[in-house]
Amino acid sequence: MAKMIFIGSDQLTAALDRLSERVELWVPAAASGRPGVIRFQRYRPGVEAVLDRLTNLSPKEAVQPRVETLLRFRTVKSADDPAAEQLLLDDRIEVRRALVFGARPCDARAFLLSDEVFLKGPYVDVYYGARRESTLLAALVCREGDDACFCSAVGGGPADTAGSDLRIVPVEGGLVVEALREEAESLLEGLGEPASDSTRDEALRVVEEVSALCMGEIDAGGSVEAFKNRFEDREYWREVAERCLSCGVCTFVCPTCTCFTITDEKRGLEGERLRSWDSCMFYQYTLEASGHNPRPTKLERYRNRVGHKFSYFPEKYDGRFSCTGCGRCIRFCPVSIDIRRAVSGLKENICECP
Ligand code: SF4
Ligand code: SF4
Repeated sequence: MAKMIFIGSDQLTAALDRLSERVELWVPAAASGRPGVIRFQRYRPGVEAVLDRLTNLSPKEAVQPRVETLLRFRTVKSADDPAAEQLLLDDRIEVRRALVFGARPCDARAFLLSDEVFLKGPYVDVYYGARRESTLLAALVCREGDDACFCSAVGGGPADTAGSDLRIVPVEGGLVVEALREEAESLLEGLGEPASDSTRDEALRVVEEVSALCMGEIDAGGSVEAFKNRFEDREYWREVAERCLSCGVCTFVCPTCTCFTITDEKRGLEGERLRSWDSCMFYQYTLEASGHNPRPTKLERYRNRVGHKFSYFPEKYDGRFSCTGCGRCIRFCPVSIDIRRAVSGLKENICECP
C-alpha cells in the first residue's frame, strides 16, 4: 500500500521546516513587495506557504532558472609576455536535491513536456537534466479552478498524477500526502502521522470527486491540421493578435514555454556565460544578423505561439499539446487575449467543400 501520511493544518509549518532541512524546498508564497502575487520560491523558516490560491508564476524556475550561470571564464595573462593569454573555464554544475511542494497537476504535467524538449534529443541539456533528475514534485489536487482553467480539455485533470512524485489531498483539518513513487517515500519520514483508515477514505473520496470535475472546455481536436489549414489566413490571425502588446507575459507565466537566450557578461578579465528566459513574442527573438526577421509582426508571433502549442508540438510528440490548460496566459495577459478562443476559432468558418 502506498505510503500516506496526514499533516494537520497546525503541523504544516513544522513539516515544511523539517523538509527544508533535507532538500531545497520550493513552495507557493506571497511575493515580497508585490501585493497579490503568489509565486514559487525557496522555503526558509518564516515563509508562509499559500496552498489555497493559484500561483501567478509556474514552478518551472525550480528546474529552468530565470537566469543561470552556464560557466565562468577567466583570462590569465602571462607576466613575461602580455600578448600571451590563457582562458580558464569552470563549467561545474551544482545542484541540490529539491522538492516542489504544492504545485498543481497542470504544472507537474508541464515538467514532462519540457523533458521532451530538453532531454529526449537530438541534444540533451545537461543543466536542465541535472536539476530535473534531482527535483521531485508534490502536486496538490485542485478542488476548484477558475474561469481560465482548462486542464481537462488538453489531456490533464484536477487530480491528474502525470509528472507527480507525491500527491497532496486537502481533507478536513489538514492534508493527506501520498507517495506515488518509491523514491519519494523517504521524504515523508517524520512529517506527520500515518493516515488513519477514515482519513484515507476521505482522501480517496476527494480524489474521486475531483476526478469527475471537468475543468474547461475547448475544442482542440484536430488542431494540428486545422492550424495548417488556417496558417495563411492572415485576416484570421490579424484579428486574433490585433490587441497583442508583444509584452511576453504569456510566455513568462507559461509552465511549458522553454525559449531562452545566452549572453556573456564580462568584467575585466573574467566573466560568466548566462542563460536567461526569452520570449518568442518579442520582435528581437527572431531578428537575424542580416536584418531579416521571419516573424516581423505580432501576427506571425502570435500565430507561432498557437502553432507551437497546438500543432507543431503535438505533431512531433505523440499528439500531446504543449499546453496544460493552466490558464495563466489568459489570466495575466494585459489585454485579455484568450488562447482558447484562438484554438477554437481554427476550425470556424473554414469551407470544407471539395
Ligand atoms: S500577454 Fe497578451 S499582450 Fe502580452 S505578448 Fe502575450 S498575448 Fe500579447
Ligand atoms: S499556453 Fe497558457 S494555458 Fe497553456 S500552459 Fe501555457 S500559460 Fe498555461
